[in-house]
Amino acid sequence: MEQGPTLTGSRRLLRRLRDIMAGSGSAQERLDKIVGLIAADMVAEVCSAYIMRAGEVLELFATEGLNRAAVHRTRLRVGEGLVGVIAATARPLALADAQAHPDFAYRPETGEEIYHSLMGVPILRSGRVLGVLVVQNRTRRHYAEDEVEALQTIAMVLAELVAGGELIEPGELAPSDGIALLPVRIEGVRLSAGLAVGAAVLHEPRIVVHRIVAEDPESELGRLRKALTEMQSAIDDLIAASDLAVGGEHRDVLEAYRMFAADRGWLARMREAVRSGLTAEAAVQKVQDDNRARMHQVSDPYLRERLSDLEDLANRLLQHLTGTAAAVSPAELPDEFILIARSMGPAELLDYDRRRLKGLVLEEGSPTAHVAIVARALDIPVIGRAKDVLAKVEAGDLVIADGDHAQVFIRPGEDIQQAIEANLAMRRARQETYAAIRRAPAETLDGVAVALHLNAGLLIDLPHLDATGAEGIGLYRTEIPFMVQASFPGVDEQAALYGRILDQAGDRPVTFRTLDIGGDKLLPYMPEAEEENPAMGWRAIRIALDRPAMLRQQLRALLRAAAGRHLRLMFPMVAEVAEFAAAREVFLLECRRAEKRGLALPARIELGAMLEVPALLWQLPALLPAVDFLSVGSNDLTQFLFACDRGNPRLAGRYDPLSPPMLALLRDLVRQCAAYRVPLGLCGEMAGNPLDAMALVGLGLRNLSMTPSSIGPVKMMIRSLHLAALERFLAPLLSAPDHSLRGKLAAFARDHGVAI
Ligand code: PEP
Ligand code: MG
Repeated sequence: MEQGPTLTGSRRLLRRLRDIMAGSGSAQERLDKIVGLIAADMVAEVCSAYIMRAGEVLELFATEGLNRAAVHRTRLRVGEGLVGVIAATARPLALADAQAHPDFAYRPETGEEIYHSLMGVPILRSGRVLGVLVVQNRTRRHYAEDEVEALQTIAMVLAELVAGGELIEPGELAPSDGIALLPVRIEGVRLSAGLAVGAAVLHEPRIVVHRIVAEDPESELGRLRKALTEMQSAIDDLIAASDLAVGGEHRDVLEAYRMFAADRGWLARMREAVRSGLTAEAAVQKVQDDNRARMHQVSDPYLRERLSDLEDLANRLLQHLTGTAAAVSPAELPDEFILIARSMGPAELLDYDRRRLKGLVLEEGSPTAHVAIVARALDIPVIGRAKDVLAKVEAGDLVIADGDHAQVFIRPGEDIQQAIEANLAMRRARQETYAAIRRAPAETLDGVAVALHLNAGLLIDLPHLDATGAEGIGLYRTEIPFMVQASFPGVDEQAALYGRILDQAGDRPVTFRTLDIGGDKLLPYMPEAEEENPAMGWRAIRIALDRPAMLRQQLRALLRAAAGRHLRLMFPMVAEVAEFAAAREVFLLECRRAEKRGLALPARIELGAMLEVPALLWQLPALLPAVDFLSVGSNDLTQFLFACDRGNPRLAGRYDPLSPPMLALLRDLVRQCAAYRVPLGLCGEMAGNPLDAMALVGLGLRNLSMTPSSIGPVKMMIRSLHLAALERFLAPLLSAPDHSLRGKLAAFARDHGVAI
């Protein structure tokens, strides 16, 4: 192919640079030679290299044209002067009249006052700023776009020299956030509470490109073409597979991918970079660096989304080009790590070693995302919607995942680390106190016992029974194992799973809830229905009754697993007595089927309903004689009582379950259940919060089911509570016009020494 003079020039320069880098002399001597070469090649009077030192300081390391005495003396903070601005924004700057720029910072020791124009680019490696490369001219020179491009390419080569660790101590090259190079705190949304510290592991590791300068640009173009074809056909395969498995939204995302993978602008920019003398992988990296810098300037959410699609594609392309695996190998995982991902599926999360996985940070994600549900079952903190976290973290960075306050600290300073360590130590001490009361009864000071149960959904939850001293499992969410599977589990598989749960629970009761799918909990292998209000849509018992085969299989499996044992079963999202009756009919059908085949039935059967839909409250006289027990799902009940989406972060905390209407409702429910002698429990999030649990006990609830980590704190609360005093305090408040009784209840706890 015919090459223009600039292209050949650029290649020649890159090769000479590479030769200097590979040549003799110290790193400093090579850098000195390089700035001289660049100045000559770019017809600039000045070329200077500033390298980032520890503490976000840019130090003049080499110069052609400025006073040599300034080398290693002139230092700028990130954000200070034009050089600092280039580092802070990770964007190039080309100015014909640099001194007129508001950020220009004059450094007399450099003698730069005679140079008017300036062009500078960040020295980037894997999106991280390692320094700044600058050329200057006396005249008011207008640097052309392709000159900026050329300097960026040179900076990539230089990045290898800096990263080599000879110029500055490797310790000083400690990862930084690529843009502001400071410890970073990112706020997100809380997907799972808790606090954890660990080394960052990127779910999709970033690839570092080492081979920058091409030997033969033609063959590099061929490599790029081949990798693109491979990547495009891999995406086609993904689309074909997703058609079979999911459809809907997933497909749209992949289609957008396919479109971007064929984006002419993107492809042209990569080819151009190869033609200028870069290897195929360095070209992909260069275009990706540009995109990253642009991403920080773009506020339009749609465009940002698209740019991050391109980032994903570039990563895929680099994988194809370098043959790097898409995931960290288990052996390389740190002992304690925080996993960082854009988004991920629940099964992917379970692939990681649970003992070492301490927390999860997602760039996307909502509280009802499947991965969040599984992470909660693993009892690790999860922060979602952590904006740009992937651009700001490097593998190995120290990360604090603070799920309680929905924040992430990356490379926290000493002070924060110490505060967190102190907090963790306090938690550990508290854990010890909880462990000490593990066998003690959950009984108030005035002798009223409250049964504390666990919410569970995975086999790994079972050991928590012993660890916490819980009386049983109050809610086993059967949909969780379904959600992390690739296909619908058959009866045998389900029966084996339920059998193991019963085995491990021993003589402690397990309350199985039939599949609560639909709405926000989707099965990867079930077609997704377009619904305007999925929470109020085709879900849970509604699907079960419309597709009885699925329910029957599950009931068959449960009956088989519980043969000769105690089976406690409840149906989710019951809105009317007729639904409960219909579900019970299906259950009886399965019992008869088992009997006919001579199979043993459970020794004891209890059938209950979840109370999550307010309509049921007005059907209690018909419902209560029909059920063996009721369990309040306070998460959904609050959502429907206040018409307030439980997954919408903008509404999080807007209405409080500790409000007079919710509490009055629960008091009435307690009374009616008592009148019919129907045991009542509560298994939503409320039960696990000590203050909320205190109110529930005050209202008469005697059976609470919660996440394992809540058992200790709730038991402590109960054991320090004088119930009669609380009952007297609470009764008149239930008709108060308050938004919430949280403050008053907290004051009661404080005044009466209740541990909350
Ligand atoms: C609830 O709604 O309170 C409940 C326990 O069920 P889930 O959170 O699984 O919807
Ligand atoms: Mg529910």
